[in-house]
Amino acid sequence: MSHSILIAGAGPCGSVLALYLAQRGIAVTLLEKHQSLPRDLRASTFHPPSLEMLHALGVAETMIAQGLVVDRYQYRDRKSGEVAEFNMGLIADETAFPFRLQLEQYEMTQIVNAKLREYPSATVLFGHEVLSATQNEHTVTVEVATPEGRKSFTTPFLIGTDGASSMVRKAAGIGFGGFTYDEKFLVVSTPFPLETAFDNLSYVNYISDPDEWCVVLRTEKLWRVLFPVSPKTPEEEAFVLSEAHVQARLQHLHARAEPYEIGHRTLYKVHQRVSETYYKGRIVLAGDACHINNPLGGMGMNGGIHDAYNLAGKLVEIIEGGAEHGERFAHYDRQRRELAVRFVQEHTISNKKLMESTDPDVQIKRQQMLMDTAADPVKARAFILERAMIHCVRDSLAVT
Ligand SMILES: Cc1cc2nc3c(=O)[nH]c(=O)nc-3n(C[C@H](O)[C@H](O)[C@H](O)COP(=O)(O)OP(=O)(O)OC[C@H]3O[C@@H](n4cnc5c(N)ncnc54)[C@H](O)[C@@H]3O)c2cc1C
Repeated sequence: MSHSILIAGAGPCGSVLALYLAQRGIAVTLLEKHQSLPRDLRASTFHPPSLEMLHALGVAETMIAQGLVVDRYQYRDRKSGEVAEFNMGLIADETAFPFRLQLEQYEMTQIVNAKLREYPSATVLFGHEVLSATQNEHTVTVEVATPEGRKSFTTPFLIGTDGASSMVRKAAGIGFGGFTYDEKFLVVSTPFPLETAFDNLSYVNYISDPDEWCVVLRTEKLWRVLFPVSPKTPEEEAFVLSEAHVQARLQHLHARAEPYEIGHRTLYKVHQRVSETYYKGRIVLAGDACHINNPLGGMGMNGGIHDAYNLAGKLVEIIEGGAEHGERFAHYDRQRRELAVRFVQEHTISNKKLMESTDPDVQIKRQQMLMDTAADPVKARAFILERAMIHCVRDSLAVT
């Protein structure tokens, strides 16, 4: 049997977990089904607690040098023109990173994996897809499709960080309850300088409008706009992604004589789901494999990084300290599933409800609440601490 801990999936969560363990000299093998690290357009916001963890792993500085530091964000009402602006400098006494870092998640996984190569106890195997897993009291046996054919790996612990469709979760027979929205999200990126189109536009904006709400974000390279859409058939999906439709949505956001240059366009399904447990025996889940939510507030990947960091600490206690694995994994489950995920699910669902209301009275009240909160430094500070996920990480660590 190999003593190496197996991690399935080299996304943000699996990569962070592998780096933490490798830095403590623990043998770890990261299996990624693709031939290289995926480069899709997904998360782009890193909150302060994630940056603190990534700093402890020695990668935050490279990420900050590569990304965009955003110290204020805005909630804009398109009808009234009102802007509620939150200045993250208000939490400078709480964290060394009082800002949101805007950086594509694939840039982060590349930086983390480059660092991982410095540690001889880590092995990263691309083109290795986990197909199934079975366990007994002492080991987990994992069937893997590799470039050389099917292979069997045996490990003391298998960690599933293989995303929302997790094969590891399915192999362990763990349910993934929740719901999928009828609505989908269309994400488009453009090099057009949107900051020239709106007065004082910050790099993170939530824009409400009874006809069409949207999120406008800047990453280090491009502006990215997220629109809700409701295609019902494959033909309607093709239309939503068409040049004509994408141009029409951007022109509605800001009309200009020229067409927009488009970088990427992607259509995403949106879910709210949490697995019924985060572990079964020697198989443990982290990241999207055990919780998914809508991207409003940027909490999915961040939550996965927080899982990875928490779980890595428990694995160190098991491997180095001889702690009992069942007890440690149960603690991980209590800290991460019962509390942190409840927070994330509630916040993301309510963020979406607030954005999408078509009732003008609800829109007015929402904007007024945000304007009042932003204008009061005590309330604004509490609002920012909550949305920066600082409270939820601290509260989860307090769970015994
Ligand atoms: C439009 C959009 C915007 C978002 N914005 C944000 C944001 O701003 N902030 C935020 O926090 N979150 C955001 N999210 C969510 C975020 O992208 C995910 O939460 C995050 O990618 C989860 O990371 P992960 O490592 O758990 O899983 P993934 O990123 O899905 O990685 C899983 C990895 O496992 C690999 N894999 C899958 N199956 C197998 C297998 N059987 N064997 C081996 N390897 C396998 C995959 O190839 C992949 O590399 C956004 C999501 C979307 C869709």
